[in-house]
Amino acid sequence: MTTQHVPGDAQAPEPARVDVLIVGGGIGGLASAVALTRAGLTCRVLEQAPAFGEVGAGLQIAPNCTRILREWDLFDEIAELGVLPRSIVMRDAVDGEELTRLDLVDAEKRYGAPYVVIHRSDLHGTLLRAAQRLGVDLVTDCAVTAVEQDDHGARAISAGRVDTADLLLGADGLHSLVRPLFSDDQPVSSAYVAYRGAVPIDTVRGNDISLDDVVCYVGPGSHFVQYPLRGGEMFNQVAVFESPKALAGFEDWGTPDELDAAFAGTCEQVRIGLPHMWRDRWWRMFDRDPIDTWVSGRIALTGDAAHPPLQYLAQGAVMAIEDAYILTHHATAHRDASGRVDWTAALAGYESVRPAHCRRVLSTARKWGELWHVAGDRRRWRNEVLRARDVHDYSFVDWLYGPTATQPAELAPMFEPIPYSPLTAPTAS
Ligand SMILES: Cc1cc2nc3c(=O)[nH]c(=O)nc-3n(C[C@H](O)[C@H](O)[C@H](O)COP(=O)(O)OP(=O)(O)OC[C@H]3O[C@@H](n4cnc5c(N)ncnc54)[C@H](O)[C@@H]3O)c2cc1C
Repeated sequence: MTTQHVPGDAQAPEPARVDVLIVGGGIGGLASAVALTRAGLTCRVLEQAPAFGEVGAGLQIAPNCTRILREWDLFDEIAELGVLPRSIVMRDAVDGEELTRLDLVDAEKRYGAPYVVIHRSDLHGTLLRAAQRLGVDLVTDCAVTAVEQDDHGARAISAGRVDTADLLLGADGLHSLVRPLFSDDQPVSSAYVAYRGAVPIDTVRGNDISLDDVVCYVGPGSHFVQYPLRGGEMFNQVAVFESPKALAGFEDWGTPDELDAAFAGTCEQVRIGLPHMWRDRWWRMFDRDPIDTWVSGRIALTGDAAHPPLQYLAQGAVMAIEDAYILTHHATAHRDASGRVDWTAALAGYESVRPAHCRRVLSTARKWGELWHVAGDRRRWRNEVLRARDVHDYSFVDWLYGPTATQPAELAPMFEPIPYSPLTAPTAS
């Protein structure tokens, strides 16, 4: 059930205490609510917006995420709403030449779960419906203004309302209100900006554009991504470029004139796609430096509040879902016969694995983005290296998609071990 918080409603009863309060109802907050409620805990999500929802277009979700969604019985819904692409193809944005590819059919065999592309509102909607079915207390119009704690639990304070719980999770995104408890850092501007656009697939059909793959065109200071969505009915595109105005210190940066200039010298497939971008909104791209402390007493961070990445590895929402899964694993492992969770032990388990993994994702995403955007001799060198790559070499994604050192040992049975040799093609089934 979703309830709307009415500030200053004197008739409203004091909200009942729950096991876990979650500040923020994005993909990360809802994933935590679903995972923890499935494990038998009571959860309340406090969302500042008047309704739960997501703005934007497509999301890529890799096997390390679809494997979890399958365990939560949500995979069939996800697969129906999304698309299972054949490959991820990397091309040079200037001449259109293919540089390398990842065969996602082989990858599914290797990692035991598929790669899916999905509209972000469909992933968010699937989690929301699951939360509603499970009886999560979902509260909208509730902007949390402060959080506090004592030895017994934590509180979220919002206009005319105080919510209490054994644990409070800050799932409130890049500009988190909860994160300053852990760090005085600020979001870091990359000076890059993203334009998005999702159109009916017939709009682009008939051109030399792949409709079955995720295709990423990498070019000097820019890249362009295309993939199908919604069972192949829609076509999603993301255009990302470095803004000269941002580099020069202007406030008004990332405007459509900069979009056109950034892609003027690109290949035909990119130029065909460009007119279909939404030009009335754009997303300036920020991340934050990684932090290693996410837990303080009965308050913890999750999702972008803990680890907002640049999106080059397509792991931001995926990491948020992994957080939910791993935290729930530790909460379950540290419950006594009466159902009470030893949160000190559970949160120590969570913090022993997640920050190190997410630090690596954030750092690698920055470097991966730099490699995509090189120019001149460095571009030629990058293209040679990528062309020479054995397409069956999964070493650069095994740590992301496969069983990683960051998974607690007791979860290992969930992940099939992968015999790996970079120069050996996967066996056909
Ligand atoms: C261009 C682009 C492409 C991307 N592509 C991918 C991809 O392919 N794959 C992938 O995995 N990730 C991708 N990401 C990253 C992904 O979108 C984010 O990592 C993910 O959505 C973060 O979810 P979250 O719930 O942690 O945070 P958010 O989505 O930011 O949600 C935070 C929620 O908290 C609420 N909130 C904030 N403050 C308060 C408050 N004080 N009180 C109450 N509520 C509050 C907000 O309203 C919001 O609903 C991409 C990002 C970008 C920008």
